[in-house]
Amino acid sequence: MIKKVSNFVPSHKNHGRHQPNPVQQPAPKTPQKNPVAPDRLQALIDKATALDTSKSPVMTTSRYTASRQNLRIIPMGGVEEVGENLTVFEYGDDLIIVDMGLAFPDETMPGIDYIIPDTKWLEENKRRIRGVIITHGHLDHIGAIPYILPKLGDPPIYTMPLTAGFIKKRLEEFGLLGRSRINVVSKDDVLALGNFKVRFFRLNHNIPDSVGLSILTPVGQIVYATDWKFDHTPVGDLPTEFDKISKYGAEGVMLLMSDSTNATEPGYCVSEKELSTTIDRIFQDTKGRIIFTCFSTLVSRIQQVFDAAAKTNRKIIVTGRSMVNTIEIAISLGYLKVQPKIVIKSEQAKKYPDNQIVVLTTGSQGEEVSGLARMARGEHKTVKIKKGDTVVVSASVIPGNERSVAVVLSNLTRLGANVIYNKILDIHTSGHAHQEELKLMISLIKPKYFMPIHGEHYMIAAHAKLANDLGIPDERIFTLENGQVLEISSAGTARAIEDPKVSGGYVFIDGLGIGDVGEVVIRDRQVMAKDGMFVVIMTLDRRSGKLVNQPDIISRGFIYMKGNDDLIREVKHEVRKLVESKGKEKLEPNWAYLRNVIRDEIGEYLYQKTERRPMILPVVIEV
Ligand SMILES: [Zn+2]
Ligand SMILES: [Zn+2]
Repeated sequence: MIKKVSNFVPSHKNHGRHQPNPVQQPAPKTPQKNPVAPDRLQALIDKATALDTSKSPVMTTSRYTASRQNLRIIPMGGVEEVGENLTVFEYGDDLIIVDMGLAFPDETMPGIDYIIPDTKWLEENKRRIRGVIITHGHLDHIGAIPYILPKLGDPPIYTMPLTAGFIKKRLEEFGLLGRSRINVVSKDDVLALGNFKVRFFRLNHNIPDSVGLSILTPVGQIVYATDWKFDHTPVGDLPTEFDKISKYGAEGVMLLMSDSTNATEPGYCVSEKELSTTIDRIFQDTKGRIIFTCFSTLVSRIQQVFDAAAKTNRKIIVTGRSMVNTIEIAISLGYLKVQPKIVIKSEQAKKYPDNQIVVLTTGSQGEEVSGLARMARGEHKTVKIKKGDTVVVSASVIPGNERSVAVVLSNLTRLGANVIYNKILDIHTSGHAHQEELKLMISLIKPKYFMPIHGEHYMIAAHAKLANDLGIPDERIFTLENGQVLEISSAGTARAIEDPKVSGGYVFIDGLGIGDVGEVVIRDRQVMAKDGMFVVIMTLDRRSGKLVNQPDIISRGFIYMKGNDDLIREVKHEVRKLVESKGKEKLEPNWAYLRNVIRDEIGEYLYQKTERRPMILPVVIEV
């Protein structure tokens, strides 16, 4: 049974954890007109994507011990960086997970594709996981699913239709489709997952189907506001459900968790509608071809491009795998309104004058393999940049990508294109609430406790200050670290547990390898990237431990060997000296020891001569 031990528990009839069907319909008293017509969508989903919409079986009966009569909230990622959002809620024997995202690496992590939170603790507790709720389809919320879900025994996922479409595509790419149940919910459903009940409310963002969560727990209601902004005139989406937000607020909220990404930005976000005006104007004023690039998950932006193209009588060529995927999913689920025959194949482009063509592609972050980067290198199969083209980049640069973006844009300019970028014309409105919106959310929810989430520490701190300005005392505001635990007791007292953390680590993903790249490998790559590497090859006699011939030296990215004959000769001499002296110290040759000596001594020697520290790789060949 759920114990209603606090005033903060809204009185919900039918508090059933043992319902065979975890998705409960809302009480008939509050009939909601459903503007996205879930039935139609549901049918579309069934037909077009064959998603698994069947409901899951009986949720496990919960047992919780006396020591577990506190609610524990654990942000495993996303409170020390932008990205890798994953939050765990624990009560009694039950765990639910909200979001499973990845983060992008910065320039200190050469060769790393993604970062995901360390989920060892979840793996150890996987039998207690009742479900995974995904708030929206961006990669920092769904990207880690294929890496983490299999390790957790493929628990069921609950999410809105469009998000389900993106997740399904991602799982398919990893060959994991069909392992986890993807349950499609509608925003008025109530999920019962063990000790938790979850309600949804629509938020605006820059992708449709973003939902916030009202999580009813035995200690009270928690409101989880994922990435969001208030947009009264969104594009391809409906406005925020203010009615639900204020209703939940009136019921009493123990804790609000809310997006901090733009907590340092004053005022309000620009509405997506206003942005449409800017895009329309660019489309009208541009004489030649337009090459438009944005994140492939920005469904609203893609809608704006389709609309502007229709208004200015342009045809659209879509290129880039992830862009094609997004458009296919969004069209099949009815989230993108597309005019008939507006999309053409690139071979058909010749039939139209340049001012009737838009190329929609990926690459707003300068990614090497993206459509835009290929065009900038003149390597794109079908699109050759020429004088008169206008490239529109509708995205802010993610820190760390500045250099690659600059290279792509410069090359496009060299090829004759006119580049319209964020800084010149504000073409990218953020999907994240600014200060006045953040304040309004806090005022509507009126939480007892507040936890800013999603952001670098300075953003989180700025959000905490806003809450404090609104009258929430500091001791009721919790800024946690990844893996730290916030505990709320049945009496309604909250405290952040200093030690131990559940986890705070990161897992690095390199290609398709998961976590096989550790801190050591990253450090090696940093060293090699900075000062190159220096290989010392020694052919040694197995018994005597003596050099059979001259040591060989290979170096990459360190010095130009030809111009440095003297240095190389000296190093060889040093190696010879070291082998001879150290060889005598041991009765039997100890190669590991010798390699360490060579690494240290030659490293030091090179530093003295060149003030650089290349990576030294001593190689011993026994003969
Ligand atoms: Zn987002
Ligand atoms: Zn996000």
